[in-house]
Amino acid sequence: MHQRADTPPSISCVMPAYNEAASLPELIARTLQALRALSPRVELVVVNDGSRDDTEAVLRGLCAGEPALRLVQLSRNFGKEAALSAGLAAARGEVVVLMDADGQHPLSLLPEMLRHWREGVDVVYAVRRTRDDQSALHRRLVAGFYGVVNWGGRVRIPRNAGDFRLMDRRVVQALLRLPERHRFMKGLYAWVGFPSVALDYEPLPRQAGESHFGLRGALSLGTTGLFAFTAVPLRLLGLVGGVLSLSSIGYGLWVIGEYFLRGINVPGYATLVVGMMFLSGVQLMSIGLLSEYVARIYDEVKQRPLYIVADEAGAGLPPPTREQ
Ligand code: UDP
Ligand code: MG
Repeated sequence: MHQRADTPPSISCVMPAYNEAASLPELIARTLQALRALSPRVELVVVNDGSRDDTEAVLRGLCAGEPALRLVQLSRNFGKEAALSAGLAAARGEVVVLMDADGQHPLSLLPEMLRHWREGVDVVYAVRRTRDDQSALHRRLVAGFYGVVNWGGRVRIPRNAGDFRLMDRRVVQALLRLPERHRFMKGLYAWVGFPSVALDYEPLPRQAGESHFGLRGALSLGTTGLFAFTAVPLRLLGLVGGVLSLSSIGYGLWVIGEYFLRGINVPGYATLVVGMMFLSGVQLMSIGLLSEYVARIYDEVKQRPLYIVADEAGAGLPPPTREQ
């Protein structure tokens, strides 16, 4: 790692926003103020992820009076992971910060993030200290998820790290090269690598509105993460198959032995029914699991874009002149 130059870098802050009209005006003002304290060259890219409220109108209004603000308008709601990708593609800064548009990510962390970047670190990610706002079941599932996804893998996805992070331009370029449709950003950040540092933070309460991710959203994101980052479910299937075959051989030998040694003819009706039902259950489950992988493969081969940008507004940083 080498120390970076003292001149402040140009900074892009990317915010995905879905129905956040109520909190945006104040949050945008505060964020730009915090960014400008770090560098004279800053932009704030807000990606409107198909909001149903006034988010677009609010942003257009603000763009008119604030040259550092940019709006990337998606054609419909594509989900946070896609909105983040759209924001990363639009950002022009040498340093890119990702933040939620609900004020939960403390701006006070930015100076320290940038300080680490100065020292040569490429990724500074924020790790939430607590998950007190989530139910015990939710937390247990999260723990299980990281256990499975990080089991024996080469890539370790850090626990409790979210999208709140600062990244160097070369990390952003690396992320933009990953074409997959089923995006689990927390996994992709880990996959691209680069020297990283974790900072602790306490999430603030939401400024307005409600979280879009309940247990169900978390489950769906978790499933995407599992299928995209580990083949453990498939390996487990193989293991189950192996154990079942071995035990059925053992059982067969025992039945034969009983017959020859003691002449007992084991009555088999119940065994047969239970065995058959169990095995067809395992088979159907395996087919279900395979179908899940196949469906995802199908989605990938269709090669649809991750998101559609309907419109852009605002000036922001000048587009980079040299090819990066
Ligand atoms: N978000 C988005 N598209 C969606 C859902 C959420 O862009 O379909 C944005 C949302 O506006 C917010 C961020 O993603 O800026 C995090 O969402 P939320 O606060 O609901 O999640 P939580 O903080 O509860 O995990
Ligand atoms: Mg939030």
